[in-house]
Amino acid sequence: MLKSSAPAVRVDNLTLSYRRHPAVHHVSGEFSPGSFTAIFGPNGAGKSTLLKGIVGLIKPDSGRVLLDGVARHDIGYLPQQSALDRSFPMRVLDVAAMGLWRKAGIFRAIGRKSLDHVEAALAAVGLTGFEDRLIGTLSGGQFQRALFARLLLQDARLILLDEPFTAIDARTCDDLLALIARWHAEGRTVVTVLHDLELVREHIPETLLLAREKVAWGPTTEVLTDENLARARHLHEAFEDDAELCEMPA
Ligand code: ADP
Ligand code: MG
Repeated sequence: MLKSSAPAVRVDNLTLSYRRHPAVHHVSGEFSPGSFTAIFGPNGAGKSTLLKGIVGLIKPDSGRVLLDGVARHDIGYLPQQSALDRSFPMRVLDVAAMGLWRKAGIFRAIGRKSLDHVEAALAAVGLTGFEDRLIGTLSGGQFQRALFARLLLQDARLILLDEPFTAIDARTCDDLLALIARWHAEGRTVVTVLHDLELVREHIPETLLLAREKVAWGPTTEVLTDENLARARHLHEAFEDDAELCEMPA
């Protein structure tokens, strides 16, 4: 895959709110084609909200999200695990096969060839033999592997991941990190929310440091300085209890 064909996401003066309380405040910048970016910041800094804004689950109060080279419904999006309901009686195979919806259609039976693809994706995430397991019986790490199999099958060129390594075992973390690095090497544009500073420093070339507003955005080594991290903490503490209504001009 050519890097030049990778999608980009521009956010332009973007404000996203819950009942007019801004969770993301006047953020501008670009996830450039083929970039691999971590979104890092304190709890409640607006990281998940920003991803939801890009996917279109939340409408901007002001500003815009501009997608270049990808349609909204073609984004590969992995929500934060705590946001997903696992009581629904689905098999691992079904969850993975959902990655083929765009290609195969929801109600069409999966043909032999598609089934081969699903099985190959499950093998790639280490879930061979788990096809018929109900998702409610999986560990956090196994469930995350199943969701990654779905992303593999979706074959998206823009991939947004929300804390993919939270509450999963170290081995799964290593395996999935390798998969994400491969997506990046293939020229896809990858954005992932992470809360492990060392992991970001070691593996992710670009970082957006977010504390409701943009603190810094660029090469990870330039962004994750002690000074910027202190500023992010300070900004966050100042806002934490009373996110006032947005009065800034759009
Ligand atoms: P992060 O992912 O960085 O931890 P979030 O984007 O989840 O932060 O949340 C940002 C802010 O928006 C927090 O103050 C949070 O309490 C608030 N928030 C998130 N989701 C909702 C919601 N559905 N309704 C109201 N407030 C919300
Ligand atoms: Mg979050």
